[in-house]
Amino acid sequence: MVKAIIGANWGDEGKGKITDMMAEHSDLVVRFQGGANAGHTIINDYGRFALHLLPSGVCYPHITNIIGNGVAFHIPSFLKELKSLEDSGVPTPKILVSERVQLLMPYHVLQDTYEEERLAGRAFGSTRSGIAPFYSDKYAKIGIQLNELFDEAVLRERLDKICTLKNVLFEHLYHKPALKADELFDQLMEWRKIIKPYMANTQKVVSDALKEGKTILLEGQLGSMRDPDFGIYPFTTSSHTLAGFGCVGVGVPPTELRQITAVTKAYSSAVGAGAFVVRLDGPEADELRRRGGDKGEFGATTGRPRDVGWFDAVATRYGCQVQGATDVALTCLDVLGYLDEIKVCTGYEIDGTITRDFPVTPLLNRAKPVYTSLPGWKCDLRGVTDWNQLPQAAKDYVCFLEQEIGVPIKIVSTGPARHENIFR
Ligand code: GDP
Repeated sequence: MVKAIIGANWGDEGKGKITDMMAEHSDLVVRFQGGANAGHTIINDYGRFALHLLPSGVCYPHITNIIGNGVAFHIPSFLKELKSLEDSGVPTPKILVSERVQLLMPYHVLQDTYEEERLAGRAFGSTRSGIAPFYSDKYAKIGIQLNELFDEAVLRERLDKICTLKNVLFEHLYHKPALKADELFDQLMEWRKIIKPYMANTQKVVSDALKEGKTILLEGQLGSMRDPDFGIYPFTTSSHTLAGFGCVGVGVPPTELRQITAVTKAYSSAVGAGAFVVRLDGPEADELRRRGGDKGEFGATTGRPRDVGWFDAVATRYGCQVQGATDVALTCLDVLGYLDEIKVCTGYEIDGTITRDFPVTPLLNRAKPVYTSLPGWKCDLRGVTDWNQLPQAAKDYVCFLEQEIGVPIKIVSTGPARHENIFR
């Protein structure tokens, strides 16, 4: 059977920890979208890892980790992460990379960087890791699939075509040096040798695993609000962050998808640009940011301070709907123990009307949060594993969120460590 774990809102919901837990009971762990532009934080006996491109099962010897065809595959990032695992003493993981995955090329990173420079203050908050140019090229059919590294004639022709197009932009719009097809070709020939042992027909691997009754975990990056169709476009990412896309991004039948676990924090946090209705400012924000996560709310990949705010039930309910969530994992409940009262955004006021439906971006930009206040519990919940040990106010808070989201909260996380959970 296939399970998916995905973000219910803006990303950084604490998926890393929950994925790590769910991975342990899976046979295959698969990345199906995105690239090295975001990160998961995983804490285990080997240390604390920010994984960007590698699937979260890499610390378990029994798991086959797959980089699916839907991923933006950046070879230098892949090699760097493998090296960091090796340096920390993690046994060599089992990793397969789809022969159909496309390569995120050095010129994608350049293009992203040049474009952000050109837009300056009007930029989309890109991490400059080349994701948007990569997916643009993929759908414009000028991408390079991994298997094409082994067809030199096709590859040379493709690179010539790509350089002709890119150099118009690079030289005449950005006033930067031209790309050279020969240099790119030589670089790809070097990478080809290193990557060959990982390359596989992963669609077949996954299909065979399903026939054998194995459990496959699809691991999403970012969250619903970053989906290019259902998110806060254009402040989204460039690949679909929804569980449904997992079927395309790795090649599993939609009918096999049985469990979709949406992860959300017990408050809101977002990194990057775009509307964030519950954004807090001033000392209130500083305190929540400082106390958030396990090291404060700063991006795992970018180190940028995250925006923080109270739980946004409008965004999260919608986020769970578009994911098709069957259950929810609520993280960072322990973070809120310092508060006398805790607000939850239960509606948006747009042009004088209150709505519970998540709107399109122009309306979202005008939305103001409508809050309901709940009493805080004023004690430290870090590491609590038994629902009955929670103070009534904390139980009431979780139940209130559950009612607002409309999906059962089955896991409540009370700390960054893997055993710090309540299962309901
Ligand atoms: P992801 O991108 O969704 O995997 O999110 P990140 O892992 O980047 O961010 C979540 C942060 O919160 C990490 O620093 C985690 O270690 C931390 N974290 C996860 N769950 C909990 C929790 O229940 N309590 C606390 N205090 N921190 C948590």
